[in-house]
Amino acid sequence: MSQDEFDTHDIGDSRFTVLKRYTHLRSVGSGAQGIVCAAYDTVLKQHVAIKKLSRPFQNQTHAKRAYREFVIMKLVNHKNIIQLLNVFTPQSTFEQFQDVYLVMELMDANLCQVIQMDLDHERVSYLVYQMLCGIKHLHSAGIIHRDLKPSNIVVKQDCSLKILDFGLARTAGMAFMMTPYVVTRYYRAPEVILGMGYEANVDIWSIGCIFGEMVRGGVMFPGTDHIDQWTKIIELLGTPCSDFMSRLQATVRNYVENRPKFPGHSAEQLFPDVLFPTPSQDHETLNANMARDLLKRMLVIDPDKRISVEEAINHPYIRVWYDEEEVNGPPPGPYDHGVDEKEISVETWKDLIYKEVVAYQKENANVQGGA
Ligand code: AMP
Repeated sequence: MSQDEFDTHDIGDSRFTVLKRYTHLRSVGSGAQGIVCAAYDTVLKQHVAIKKLSRPFQNQTHAKRAYREFVIMKLVNHKNIIQLLNVFTPQSTFEQFQDVYLVMELMDANLCQVIQMDLDHERVSYLVYQMLCGIKHLHSAGIIHRDLKPSNIVVKQDCSLKILDFGLARTAGMAFMMTPYVVTRYYRAPEVILGMGYEANVDIWSIGCIFGEMVRGGVMFPGTDHIDQWTKIIELLGTPCSDFMSRLQATVRNYVENRPKFPGHSAEQLFPDVLFPTPSQDHETLNANMARDLLKRMLVIDPDKRISVEEAINHPYIRVWYDEEEVNGPPPGPYDHGVDEKEISVETWKDLIYKEVVAYQKENANVQGGA
């Protein structure tokens, strides 16, 4: 691609160099990887979101995350997972290669903004249903998220919801990184915090935390660090039983067993009737008792006793939205976890990411007026 195909826009402190087909850029958010802009795509004639990944190969953590995100986004195909519309780099050679721009469908707000609102049962249960469907689709490709949080979930006015990212890689990714960006850990499950093995229902915990936050209007477990996070969990839910303790690694077990013991609170105390909207007129299972029952089954410290994704989708508070296509649509191609295990040099990451961008452009060159 030649330089005259691009326009440069200054967005705050950031410079977006994008294909001329994208106009009217404005900032809509920022995350660990950089800034996201809304724009108008004059070719597809629709509004889009453009995320700039600045030098994504600058270190292991950034590179793995960018590569993984790109590979998985190409793989998935579900209405509750964000879809990739285009990818480009303004640099024309490998030597000059710096930035990757991901173009996605544009949504209206992230869930942090929506959680604050007074939502009725229809909206709460529909949002939870869509999170479950999106997560189930990822699970069917062998991707277990483990880091679902409101800032990585976006919604539209019509209450449709999409998951933006694909969570933690199986290995590393947790490595120390010098970044001014604060990592939110409030939604991480006990098995992640305590470094245990995990199953698919690790993601139920995060969805339960988000659901609980919608009801209570505040973060369920706002820990300042891993240790405080664990304390916040046991203060509300109670110290787990010895059977759970016996499955911890010795050092962690020693620490956890020596924390003060808490009896925990009942679901009725944590989620009293006054916190809920009035029961739905249209669906008799959308009421405070049903919502509380589901919350009680999701926010369980021991994953062996926590509800599964399948069971949650079939719970009376959620099942009202059941659509076979959404729940059991075709799974994505399997994800090659080899990416997660890669520990390679910055130069090799640069090469891998560059090749992916070029391959994408080749594959999509003839689609909708070219990439
Ligand atoms: P990310 O860098 O993916 O973590 O996104 C950072 C923030 O940008 C999100 O919390 C959203 O507020 C916003 N954002 C990202 N992607 C989109 C999108 N496709 N539509 C609307 N807003 C988005």
